[in-house]
Amino acid sequence: MRVAIVGAGPAGVAAAIFLKRYGIQLDLFEKDQVGGLIANAWRVENIPFFDPCPGEKIVELLQRNLRYFSIEIVHEEVLEVKGKKLRTKSFEQEYDKILVASGTLPKRITEFEVCEKVVYEFKHLPKSMDSLAIYGAGDAAFDGALKAAEKGVKNVHIFNRSSTIRALPRLVELAKNSPIVYHEKEPIIEVGQQQNLIIKTNKTSYHFDALLICIGRMPNVGFVTEKTHDVYIVGDASGGFRQMSIAVGQAIEACMRMVNEQ
Ligand SMILES: Cc1cc2nc3c(=O)[nH]c(=O)nc-3n(C[C@H](O)[C@H](O)[C@H](O)COP(=O)(O)OP(=O)(O)OC[C@H]3O[C@@H](n4cnc5c(N)ncnc54)[C@H](O)[C@@H]3O)c2cc1C
Repeated sequence: MRVAIVGAGPAGVAAAIFLKRYGIQLDLFEKDQVGGLIANAWRVENIPFFDPCPGEKIVELLQRNLRYFSIEIVHEEVLEVKGKKLRTKSFEQEYDKILVASGTLPKRITEFEVCEKVVYEFKHLPKSMDSLAIYGAGDAAFDGALKAAEKGVKNVHIFNRSSTIRALPRLVELAKNSPIVYHEKEPIIEVGQQQNLIIKTNKTSYHFDALLICIGRMPNVGFVTEKTHDVYIVGDASGGFRQMSIAVGQAIEACMRMVNEQ
């Protein structure tokens, strides 16, 4: 059996290790960097068998385990999965099974994307900044604010367009007990650029070094044009709850089904 895995986030890496231990031939495709979305996390506290740690630490563990099992990454973006056929820019190949662990894409506000200082993931923010605006009021917004504050960013502001907060109470509590400034019912309506970013809300205008937009994410499966029995969609890409252990669990379960069906 030969298996293709699309995405080297937690789900894809877990699947690769599982299959490798069964001696199954696999190709692990990654268009960006190993680790996926968890690289952005401020502090991962919900995995009971290791101490709370930053997302970067988990990325290091994933990379180390890939090396331990001598699993090579195919550094290519998968452009199409059509049944058993997988296509990249440089080749087309048929596999017995394809595991899609491609995560999510951000919901974008394209009119705010005035320069590279407007991003959707923490890891894409400028390395050095004094001030950061965050748009959104979910886990990623509060997590990003805490991470920025911990990294020494002096002015961190969260803008929530409504009064509803969808983040974990623990993150909200920690943010409220920190110098992070939280703005309620203050939607951003325009983003401009001079030396830094000019962020206009329904109340006033501000200057920030960067803007992190966290208004939600959606499954990244547009490249799957034909989903058959041999194509397994797991992890955040499956559209269910978005947690690392669920993503890993789904990947392992899919691999066990593949092995059992052999
Ligand atoms: C700020 C933040 C904090 C978080 N904190 C926690 C936490 O504390 N605890 C927790 O359990 N979860 C946390 N999460 C959620 C967790 O990161 C995700 O649930 C987990 O990363 C999902 O893993 P995945 O492998 O399914 O997808 P992803 O991690 O998104 O990985 C998908 C990978 O696929 C690659 N890819 C996509 N398309 C293609 C393609 N066409 N070709 C090749 N490669 C492709 C991507 O580049 C990426 O590397 C957090 C998320 C965020 C954003």
